[in-house]
Amino acid sequence: MLELRPTCENCNKALPPSSTEARICSYECTFCASCVETVLENVCPNCGGGFTPRPVRPANNWKGDNFLGKNPASTTVKHRPVDPAAHVRFSAKLKYIPPHER
Ligand SMILES: [Zn+2]
Ligand SMILES: [Zn+2]
Repeated sequence: MLELRPTCENCNKALPPSSTEARICSYECTFCASCVETVLENVCPNCGGGFTPRPVRPANNWKGDNFLGKNPASTTVKHRPVDPAAHVRFSAKLKYIPPHER
């Protein structure tokens, strides 16, 4: 099950389960849209993959207990700010390769 992490790994901005600003990579590395666009340039600093909007888990029990009340968001903060200089080097070539070809 997708781990709904509580904050942006870079700037620590709150990203509650209903946030439309949350972005994730395939490993669930979680960042805010602003950091993905301006700092990361759509290159995950941990795996090199691209990002996609994080799905919102329903807050209401529409069907079969598949909702936030049964499967709540994570409360474990992973705040590991990116070293901007290191990320510029890491993403220099990667950012020009579309995520589906990396
Ligand atoms: Zn951020
Ligand atoms: Zn990643």
